[in-house]
Amino acid sequence: MIDNKIKVFEVLLDIFSKEMYENKAYECLKTILRGTVEALNKNNSEIIAYSRSQLKMAVDGKPAAERMDTKDLGKWINDKKLNEYLERVIHQHRKKFEKLGYIPIIKTNDTNGGKGNERRYWLDITELTCVENEDDLNQKLDEDIIFYERVDSSEIKLSWFYRLIFKNGEIQNKSIRGLILLLIVFGSLLFWALYVCVFAFVLVREGQSFTSLDLLFIICLFAFSYLSYKYWAKPIWNLPEHRVIKAPMTFISLQEDHADIEMYRDRERNQLTRVTRFKGVCSICSSDVVLRDGKPDQSIPLVGRCVESPFAHVYSFDRVNMSGNRLK
Ligand SMILES: [Zn+2]
Repeated sequence: MIDNKIKVFEVLLDIFSKEMYENKAYECLKTILRGTVEALNKNNSEIIAYSRSQLKMAVDGKPAAERMDTKDLGKWINDKKLNEYLERVIHQHRKKFEKLGYIPIIKTNDTNGGKGNERRYWLDITELTCVENEDDLNQKLDEDIIFYERVDSSEIKLSWFYRLIFKNGEIQNKSIRGLILLLIVFGSLLFWALYVCVFAFVLVREGQSFTSLDLLFIICLFAFSYLSYKYWAKPIWNLPEHRVIKAPMTFISLQEDHADIEMYRDRERNQLTRVTRFKGVCSICSSDVVLRDGKPDQSIPLVGRCVESPFAHVYSFDRVNMSGNRLK
């Protein structure tokens, strides 16, 4: 059995090292897998189990693990995410495991959680014939369906200015902070409109000595107005109606590639606005799927696009069910 385990885990390790998936479940499984293979190579057949906090520490580092509330660890990684991901990988590389007759499975202890009863995960193998029949598996791994998850608001770095307004990446719409945000957005729009008016007025008065430098100023003014309208004011304006928008670049720190802004209602029915990021696993290639503009190839404003194949692996996005269907 140990021989089989080593073979199966080495095949999986090989898959993992060749294909660098951008995915949390992948990072966690890789951590467990490396620990397990290392132990097996030392002839240690004990179970090498990892708790969620150990996984968080291995994947995101000690400071991030210490910052995270233990309650949120279940959201960060859970049985479903690990299993779903592992099943997809096995499905994609089925031939390799068929040769061995065994596939890797993720096992966990039977616990209700709580202090001292942490959930732990380890890898084991099972005979291929024990797996549910092919049809069920294919249905479960339907290539047309994708599930999304939210990245915790506190994990997203905001730009210094918006960090002052958003508390842990979140604000209540009906609060002083919400009002400040509204004032900034519409105040600066108003200020800009006034500025353009004054500028035009001055130009009209100096009409006789109109130079090409003035023309350059006008072009710059219009270009800037257009860009800030398109990429900043219009998306924010759409937020209450669309519920989710791509965060304008000014919202997030330079270290972040992108983020989403979501308006939602909490249990007490307060309207809140938070900065988050929606993420899914591509059902075709197992890479991450992130939200992007639907334009130019789709008619809906926001779609899920695979980071590896953004125009071929495209999904719809339903923020209520946190799922989507493949768009063609
Ligand atoms: Zn893909």
